[in-house]
Amino acid sequence: MSPPCGSGIYVSRGVALLSAGLTVALLLALVALAALYGNCAGVQPSEQHIPGVTDTASTPPGGQEQARPTGTPEAAHEPVVATTSQDGRPLSGPWNHSRLPPWLVPLHYDLELWPRLWPNNLSYTESVTFTGRVNITVRCTVATSRLLLHSFFLTYKQAEVWGPLTLGTRNATVGRVPVDNVWFAQDTQYMVLDLGQVLQPGSRYELHLGFSGQVLQYISEGLFLDLYTDQGQLRGLIASQMEATFARTVFPCFDEPALKATFNITIIHHPGYTALSNMPQLGQSERIDVNGSRWMVTTFYTTPRMPTYLVALAICDFDHVSRTERGKEIRIWARKDAIANGNVDFAMNATGPIFSFLEDLFNISYSLPKTDIIALPHFDNRAMENWGLLTFDESSLLLEPDEELTEKRARVLAVIAHEVGHQWFGNLVTMSWWNNVWLNEGLASYFELGIINYFYPKLQRNEIFFFNFLHGVLREDHSQESRTVSTNVENFTETNEIKELFNIYTYHKGACMARMLCSFLSQNLFISALQSYLDTFSYSNAEQGDLWRHFQMAIDEQNIIHLPTTVKSIMDSWTYQGGFPVITLNVSTGVVKQEPFYLEKTKNPTLVSHNNTWIVPIFWMKNGTTQPLVWLDRSSMVFPEMQLSDSDSDWLTLNFNMTGYYRVNYDELGWKKLNQQLEKDPKAIPVINRLQLLNDAFVLSENNYIEIETALDLTKYLAEEDEILVWFEVLVNLINRDVISDVNNYAIYPLLKKYLLKRINSIWNTCSTLIRKNVAALQDNYLALLSVEKVFETACWLGLEDCLQLSKELFRKWMADPETAIPHPIQRVALCNGIALGSVKEWDFLFSFYVNITKKEEERGSRLIPAMCCSKEPWILNRFMAYVVTVNPNPFNKTNVIEAVAASEVGQYVAKDFLLNNWATVWERYGPESVDALVWVIGRTVSTDLQVMECLQHWLLPGCYFLRRHHKRMNGCRIYNKPSGSEGDESSAWMLCAVTCGWMLFRQSPPPPRENSDVKDSSTFRLIFRAQENLQMKRTDCQA
Ligand SMILES: [Zn+2]
Repeated sequence: MSPPCGSGIYVSRGVALLSAGLTVALLLALVALAALYGNCAGVQPSEQHIPGVTDTASTPPGGQEQARPTGTPEAAHEPVVATTSQDGRPLSGPWNHSRLPPWLVPLHYDLELWPRLWPNNLSYTESVTFTGRVNITVRCTVATSRLLLHSFFLTYKQAEVWGPLTLGTRNATVGRVPVDNVWFAQDTQYMVLDLGQVLQPGSRYELHLGFSGQVLQYISEGLFLDLYTDQGQLRGLIASQMEATFARTVFPCFDEPALKATFNITIIHHPGYTALSNMPQLGQSERIDVNGSRWMVTTFYTTPRMPTYLVALAICDFDHVSRTERGKEIRIWARKDAIANGNVDFAMNATGPIFSFLEDLFNISYSLPKTDIIALPHFDNRAMENWGLLTFDESSLLLEPDEELTEKRARVLAVIAHEVGHQWFGNLVTMSWWNNVWLNEGLASYFELGIINYFYPKLQRNEIFFFNFLHGVLREDHSQESRTVSTNVENFTETNEIKELFNIYTYHKGACMARMLCSFLSQNLFISALQSYLDTFSYSNAEQGDLWRHFQMAIDEQNIIHLPTTVKSIMDSWTYQGGFPVITLNVSTGVVKQEPFYLEKTKNPTLVSHNNTWIVPIFWMKNGTTQPLVWLDRSSMVFPEMQLSDSDSDWLTLNFNMTGYYRVNYDELGWKKLNQQLEKDPKAIPVINRLQLLNDAFVLSENNYIEIETALDLTKYLAEEDEILVWFEVLVNLINRDVISDVNNYAIYPLLKKYLLKRINSIWNTCSTLIRKNVAALQDNYLALLSVEKVFETACWLGLEDCLQLSKELFRKWMADPETAIPHPIQRVALCNGIALGSVKEWDFLFSFYVNITKKEEERGSRLIPAMCCSKEPWILNRFMAYVVTVNPNPFNKTNVIEAVAASEVGQYVAKDFLLNNWATVWERYGPESVDALVWVIGRTVSTDLQVMECLQHWLLPGCYFLRRHHKRMNGCRIYNKPSGSEGDESSAWMLCAVTCGWMLFRQSPPPPRENSDVKDSSTFRLIFRAQENLQMKRTDCQA
């Protein structure tokens, strides 16, 4: 699957169907504010579906009446069962375990699915059902009279077992095994067949199962319906998402990744639709149902051996474009409008070359005869690599034909690259179980980079990796929690835990592991070991240890690269251990130490005990020359070659190119030497290492490893820094959102202004020249494009006159020609500045432009709202909010404008007053969900005792009174959600007040520094940063 999104709550099918009530109760606990204020959001008691073998209205296609089984003696190899439940089912047995017993091995599935979707009967309220039939050929390995397979939310019409099969034939002359009982272990999602006779080891049998189920809406799991608009009409399609464990909700199966089998898939569908699956179409025929309706039966060629999670189908009336790459057809399917508009052209042109690139790299041809890629209008997963039928959310595949922004193209390219990469890592070679899903996701993510680089050779490879993968996961990862890349299989007791493995550690840290490995093995050795791994385990499964073994074989076959120990020992120390080390070098002694990285180190002294170490490859550079790799495989070692002399020209930096997954700290002298070098000749240190120095220093100071002055000292040279990426890194660290909009910034702002204005001129000149003349020159470097925006924003925030002039200039041009005048990467900032510096004339122009924008341009329109909130005129902002909460229909209904206004410097006070005066109206407009955010709006302006008291007197207590008056309205919700033993709503409401007041009290900040502070006075600067940190800490506590 594609990388997880940064935000969003994953709701599984099980949760959605079984636990709606519980979810609401949880929500109450988590968002007490919203729940207390809220209406019930239409949550009904869960419709718990208890599947069983029952007759249903729909007859399974090809179903047969089941003969009454005849009793036969119990099996000799039955698992020992001590007790039985009231209904006669055994209480304990293999169905209590999360893994299938190894008694049966699936070999082949004949699967027929028939969703009842008619193109002329589509509705958001009607549910769609499906029926199905599957014949599964299995080989018995252990004598058993009990048969377990996965099934969840399916209802059965037929359950038969035939066999033993005669080799090479499947006919009616084989015997039939009596089925005494069929029952379901709900917790573990098993269907259990109690047989009347024992299945024999070595023999093959066939399970015949007829079933029916529900096509889901709004959740992309199992079989799901996607309703959308195309050519002005409501349309519907059905698609599938089986990973990780949803195949069992579509057909009964052995739903584990190592239980690979071949599949013959048949789809029955309306003749107006096209059916797609993993393999090419084999044939079509017609079927008439009991109502006389005509259906199309589409069959597909047999798949190669593959796991159930890769089974895929789609039923749609999309158009497609196609291309042939090395003799194999690639088709991309999308809405007819999108195809006609050329929205898939970029993807179409890119996909074939990506396949060829990876075929050449791995020296293994793509296994299937075709590839279909389908752009689903609403798909929760961004993209999924189903073998031969890749599913994408539209936003990850479609582009406007004239889309020039490299960032968007690179993003689409990365998702395609990731999914195509899975055709080898995942589809051809699959991890044996989900605990090693990083073998799929980490490796597919790593090769995204190679592909982006292949298409955009000018992009800075290391820097792209830093921003796309390393930066984010290093920020998240630490040793207080044991989230690891690979996990012990024994840790899993519940199916639900599998989905948690699709996280930043398996994707991004997994990619970092691959990159670090590649760095010390060399590119050639790395690729040849992967080739051998893929070749050996094709159509089969592998463990992490198998991958290490193939790298070890590559190492053992040559004499140039030597490792301190086995690849397995080195890499296990990284993949089985949470967090990462901080490597500290003392340049006077050459002592290098490692210790685990902790968040807020000294504030959690009890946590600073960690017995394990990592085996750390250290690439390093001394005085501009790269040095031979050294290994740190103990907690502390001496490297005399890393001692520095007194000479001013001596310096060194560890983790060259940032290929190691760790942070680097130096003693005082080490940092000082680096500082001197930066001030003398920054370019002697490569860009990626300048980024690393600043990134490490800021994070280490935030977490109490070094003083903030050390990080600030590193920024003194910035006047000489012309690499926009480095500036970007500094600015995001120095000027975060709090600094920009917090009430406590008054003391910091003049200091930062004075400090940065002295240094920003040179980079501003580069930036403004590009903006004025040639933003297109940056087209091939999307990271730089993003950085331009930050520099532009900061320069104007600091009040740089030329920046303000440029903003006015751009806004004037935009008013003359709103379609094209402002280059996209700086549009947000330019519009915001234009409004901030302009008058009501500019504001009214933007407003009317927004309300006249067509629905098609909704996305573009939503980008304009923050700009409208940038006005410095309180009356304009007030007028805007008053309009939004009263007008109907509201053209701003997708954005909470009050929250947006409150995000700006002036707006926060205007928004607070507006809320105080219009609470009831705001409440009616935005409803309970926004309360938390709006309380935050109020809270942001409160920082002194007086303000807290004022707030309590004038707003909070009356607010609580208001809340109490509305208690009837909340009553239904409250009773429904009330945790057992809780008090009535009145005390809950007052508890809310108490919590909120307490939270506001928390917001009090330490006394501000003296007014005559200067940036040169580092103790003052330090005090301010500490105050910032302090504030941040309290805020985190309150939010928790
Ligand atoms: Zn993936």
